[in-house]
Amino acid sequence: MPYSVDVVRGRYRLRGEFHSIERNQPIRNEAGKLCGVTNPRRLVHTHSYGGEHEFFEGVAQGRLIGTRCDNADCEVGYQSVFMPFRIHCPDCLQKTTSVDLTEVANRSATIHSFMITERTGAFNTLEKPIKFINIEFEGVCTILMGYLLCGEPAIGNRVVPIFASASPTYTILDLAWVPDGTSASELPKGFSSSK
Ligand SMILES: [Zn+2]
Repeated sequence: MPYSVDVVRGRYRLRGEFHSIERNQPIRNEAGKLCGVTNPRRLVHTHSYGGEHEFFEGVAQGRLIGTRCDNADCEVGYQSVFMPFRIHCPDCLQKTTSVDLTEVANRSATIHSFMITERTGAFNTLEKPIKFINIEFEGVCTILMGYLLCGEPAIGNRVVPIFASASPTYTILDLAWVPDGTSASELPKGFSSSK
């Protein structure tokens, strides 16, 4: 299905086919009675990143970009660092400043908590069981949700980010985590560390 999307002068420009239909099938019961039909249709969704574009561009390039409130008049949030990326400070609502937290993550990321699941939602592409981890960073006031791609999670363990920067999808799937000390040869295919 050929299509393309770009942005010209701030406007999305969609060209080609964004929805298609396929031949349907009858639905019958055990006795062969016609009970209904399927209506197969496929859609291409477009998802705008808006102010979060820097985060996804960074991950595709092997960097973890967070933000910081630089508003000296912000009573609670001044100099607070946020990961995940927050476009605006939740305390003063002013636009934040982007900061590269790759080195902070490589040096200080630890597992705050974790959850292992065998049951997933639709279109899951992660290997099961999925080891979701909540990650703390030194000097960062928020906790990032991610997933551990090798090893077993434990609270307090050091982890490092790995990136699918060789062939990025420009989604959160380009970012995963492994225990600190995992060698390059042990990394899952397509991922590399920036440590
Ligand atoms: Zn603020």
